[in-house]
Amino acid sequence: MHDFKPKIHKYEATIGNFFVNAFLIESENGVIAVDSTLAIPSTNDLREIIQNKIKKDLIGVLLTHGHPDHYTGVAELIKGYGDIPVIATQGALNQCLARDEEEGGYLGSDQAFGALYPKERVFPNQLVKSGDTVTLDNLSFTIENLGACESDDDSLWSMKIDNSLHVFSGDIVYNHMHTFFRDGHVSNWLKQLDYCISKFDTNTIFHAGHGEEMGIEMLYWKRGYIQAFLRKLKDLLGDKPTLSPEEQQLLFNTLKSYLPNEKLLFLTGWQFDDMVTAVKNDGVL
Ligand SMILES: [Zn+2]
Repeated sequence: MHDFKPKIHKYEATIGNFFVNAFLIESENGVIAVDSTLAIPSTNDLREIIQNKIKKDLIGVLLTHGHPDHYTGVAELIKGYGDIPVIATQGALNQCLARDEEEGGYLGSDQAFGALYPKERVFPNQLVKSGDTVTLDNLSFTIENLGACESDDDSLWSMKIDNSLHVFSGDIVYNHMHTFFRDGHVSNWLKQLDYCISKFDTNTIFHAGHGEEMGIEMLYWKRGYIQAFLRKLKDLLGDKPTLSPEEQQLLFNTLKSYLPNEKLLFLTGWQFDDMVTAVKNDGVL
């Protein structure tokens, strides 16, 4: 009876040199979004795919974490679809609210996205805990919370299609791209990468918040990238509170030599001193 095979539609939003993914999962009678993008033009693209390509209604949104590039577009995305569930953990909701308060004004200003930034934001309206399964139109999604890693609260949403496990991994792994370190939870992040390497097998398909879909091998790559970053930062930092512009350039050069592209590398310089403080406070150096 339920032999419809779900389809995963990946959408990559590009804003200058910023790349972020959202996923639309087509069920028999509807569409479930995993994360959203940040600004209105990309959210309009997502709506266009839902309305004119898939031609089914959006019935729910699952969030992997509470960073603005993944949730602010939800307000525009769900417009006209009624009171649909926007599902996340309490920790992700907390971060959405905190980041909205801290950065909403800046992101909506002319220095950032201006009128392209959604004026209203919508926050998760249904909370789940690690291990919970949500069923929408006969598709089951299970959430596993990994705690604070790239953000203050990161989760994986998993679903099966035939014999493959599809994991929507949010920002746990960026596929071959620089990674945002400002939230500073690097020791747990490395621990959770090890856990994921031991838990998932080589048939698992990861759908990343940034970059192409990938296998478990990318978890090893990410772990190496984080370790290379930490090592260079530690060596340059010594006992100092932060790095000079020249030292920042040396760190940047190390990262550049590890990466196959410069996508998201500009994030290295964003709130640099805060990033260093957060990583130091994590105790990982
Ligand atoms: Zn992200």
